[in-house]
Amino acid sequence: MMLPKNDIKHVYFFGNHEAEGNVTMKNLLGGKGANLAEMDRFGIPVPPGFTITTDICKIYNKIGGKNTIKVIIDEIEEAVNRVEGVMGSKFGDVNNPLLLSARSGARVSMPGMMDTVLNLGLNDATVEGLAKKSKNERFAWDSYRRFIQMYGGVVMGMKPEAKEDHDPFEVILDKIKDDRGVDDDTKLTADDLREVVQGFKDIIIKRKGMPFPEDPWDQLRGVILAIFDSWNTDRAIYYRRMNDIPEDWGTAVNVQGMVYGNMGDNSATGVAFTRDAATGENLFNGEYLLNAQGEDVVAGVRTPRQITKTGSQRWAVLAGVPEEERVSDFPSLEEVMPEVYQQLYVLQNKLEDHYREMQDLEFTIQEGRLWILQTRSGKRTGAAMVRIAMEMLDAGIITEQEALLRIEPNKLDELLHPIFKPEAILEAHVIAKGLPASPGAATGQVVFFADDAVAHAEQGKRVILVRTETSPEDLAGMNNAQGILTARGGMTSHAAVVARGMGKCCVSGAGKIRIDYHEKTLSSNGDTFREGDWISINGTTGEVYEGKIDTIKPKVSGHFATLMQVADAHSRMYIKANADTPHDAQVARDFGAKGIGLCRTEHMFFEGEKIIAMREMILAKDATGRKDALAKLLPIQRKDFEELFAVMHDLPVTVRLLDPPLHEFVPQDEEGQKEMAEVMNVDLEVIRNKVESLSETNPMLGHRGCRLGNTYPEITEMQTRAILEAALNLKKRGIRAVPEIMIPLTGIVTEMKLQEIIVRKVANKIFEEYGDTLEYKVGTMIEIPRAVIAADRIAKSAEFFSFGTNDLTQMTFGYSRDDAAKFIPIYLEKGLLHHDPFEVLDQEGVGELMKVAIKKGRKTRPNMPIGICGEHGGEPSSVEFCNLIGTDYASCSPYRVPIARVAAAQGEVKRLIAKEEAERIKREKALQIRKKFQIKN
Ligand code: PEP
Ligand code: MG
Repeated sequence: MMLPKNDIKHVYFFGNHEAEGNVTMKNLLGGKGANLAEMDRFGIPVPPGFTITTDICKIYNKIGGKNTIKVIIDEIEEAVNRVEGVMGSKFGDVNNPLLLSARSGARVSMPGMMDTVLNLGLNDATVEGLAKKSKNERFAWDSYRRFIQMYGGVVMGMKPEAKEDHDPFEVILDKIKDDRGVDDDTKLTADDLREVVQGFKDIIIKRKGMPFPEDPWDQLRGVILAIFDSWNTDRAIYYRRMNDIPEDWGTAVNVQGMVYGNMGDNSATGVAFTRDAATGENLFNGEYLLNAQGEDVVAGVRTPRQITKTGSQRWAVLAGVPEEERVSDFPSLEEVMPEVYQQLYVLQNKLEDHYREMQDLEFTIQEGRLWILQTRSGKRTGAAMVRIAMEMLDAGIITEQEALLRIEPNKLDELLHPIFKPEAILEAHVIAKGLPASPGAATGQVVFFADDAVAHAEQGKRVILVRTETSPEDLAGMNNAQGILTARGGMTSHAAVVARGMGKCCVSGAGKIRIDYHEKTLSSNGDTFREGDWISINGTTGEVYEGKIDTIKPKVSGHFATLMQVADAHSRMYIKANADTPHDAQVARDFGAKGIGLCRTEHMFFEGEKIIAMREMILAKDATGRKDALAKLLPIQRKDFEELFAVMHDLPVTVRLLDPPLHEFVPQDEEGQKEMAEVMNVDLEVIRNKVESLSETNPMLGHRGCRLGNTYPEITEMQTRAILEAALNLKKRGIRAVPEIMIPLTGIVTEMKLQEIIVRKVANKIFEEYGDTLEYKVGTMIEIPRAVIAADRIAKSAEFFSFGTNDLTQMTFGYSRDDAAKFIPIYLEKGLLHHDPFEVLDQEGVGELMKVAIKKGRKTRPNMPIGICGEHGGEPSSVEFCNLIGTDYASCSPYRVPIARVAAAQGEVKRLIAKEEAERIKREKALQIRKKFQIKN
């Protein structure tokens, strides 16, 4: 086995303001490691430590544990030495032991997905040393039992054996608490904890057949490798897929000197945000626990208190706690430790100013001394993301470009998420109240386990996942649920943080509810709900309701509206919508669509009498019969267009002529065919034969698109008439319609030419009949690879192009749109594809074709408008790509219009930044050449 060369640095020390790394080294040191180094550099008190690089994680996956340790052990020993120097204690020393923490840390934060081990270095001897040194025996034994518990879980795989089981260590702990008659583990004595430790060790031997390792160096080696392993756990892999994080990044490991928040009542631990992660309000906030370690806050086992007095008072109002009780039982850190609070307040300002971004920080107070354990850019809801970016812009902290790049376009979807109908909420029955952990409204059927949530969601059910508390194992269940309700845990509990990250509605810490996992029941105030019962939760207020409650979509205003203005000011492209009804058109217009880029006329034919006339047309034996049926369709379709054009007055509406194969308009089942025969007053046999004759082996490649209009020109004639007569009728009423007629599925030049001739002929006839004219365009979709190649000639007939990337993807890959779901998930799993090309535009293949079509089209018609109207038109990375290759607009579903507007702006901002960078490099090179050859001027 070839070992990697050992002259490369794999371990980076930080501490005493002598950090070897810095914030630019995230790829190598992970986000957490790079930030620790950076904080150390600019004077933030971080416990000293070292980061083992992400390269080692990659190496470990190739050469295994033993060899990996050989590569890094010398550097680790040296770094531990330096940590010992700063902390004034020694790793493994029985009198003055240095204890360590070890945490994962990938390039981007994956909260809770990988492992952490605290109190590393404790054993039967050092625990006594720690007890003496801290003069606190109870604290030492509590730390020891926590260490065995974490080490057991992370390194030795001590987990519950069945999903209904509890953590094996918690079972032992709970039993001793029961025996002693206490309900809180802080009430256990040192002797009780000795017994707990013995119980933990016994169960490890019983289950694993090997003892808990006493040698601190064995412990350290075991933990480092286990953290690298945790990169490959199911939950981490799931999280990476969900967030598009590449598998090959790997994680770094951060090892640090331990500081303790559980050294008595002058010690504490907490999590803080420089701004409110749920609403974005510029208000320092967070939670802490006295005499506790970090995981107690996030695990949701004890309900934490608020850091600031304002936060505490707000919490008390929500929790129904009177001020007197709040002050005595739940005081804020600001009230309990005013001096440390002041330091923390100053430091959080310093951190936010330094990073110019909302920070999420973890701190520990050890016997009155404040340590910052980590800082990172804080996860936030969509609403908070917009508000923070806009307020930082307003305060001059960041530029418009930076503000735009701070937006995750897909997260805007949350702001467009439903809220409960105000009138429905008045009548709703509140069954419980918790914390408003992640905003939004959700209605669903109760489930208690993550796997049940996934299974029910797969059957199309809407579920609310109800848990005492959640853990990273519940991730898939949370993702598949409409919302999450937990009985325990605060605003920074796992459930709250993860739900906010996902944009899922969540109510946490609804303390009055009782959950029985075995019986699968949820009870609250005398009401009992079983699995499958409906409840509703409001993540904005923390209320939990009985039954289903109707929801409505919110309006775009305030910070969101400002963001849209900023986005438009930086965009080169504009955004239109795919809409076929006046309602959808209105939604699109309200969201800022600059027109309709695709009206699929076939969608207009499905309701009531329209489908009857359509079927008459399909059943017609010849052109005359078809014309008769189409004559019935004409007024109906004209009326539809009048309504649509009226909503979209003064903005262009691109109407696509009939596209799908005709069999889609006739029933395929016997029942439906009988009904159709009755309505049309013909024999069932006639219908059967027609359906039979329309059936195609490959309908997606069959008699559809402009092949319909070219074989049955009367369809094109009728639709053209309906469109232009509607526009002229509106003109009479003083409403300006801007119609564009789009020919679908063009592949050969003559197809387009013939359609254009038909359209223009009908148009001229109508203008004559009306004694009036109007401007209109005729263009085509580019959705067949052959059309790309012929684009220069097609552009002679087509005044505009719109990429139908759904069909273009289908035909470029040769993947049937109807059947690809059978194999694409497997391709994704095996890494043969990185994305489903029907969701994310395939830039290397389909994208290259688009470039060719643009070049050729504009060669013939230099200023021709070119857009995209396939599903990719609302997908941010695809919109950015379209901006780069020079399309003029993207058209997407109405609710994605704001997302596409931001994506278009981001694409342009990034393009300009890249251009400037390229120019800078060019200038620099030129300067170097001048210097080298001593050229003057
Ligand atoms: C397309 O093919 O991308 C398109 C917009 O048309 P449709 O999805 O209706 O085939
Ligand atoms: Mg198409």
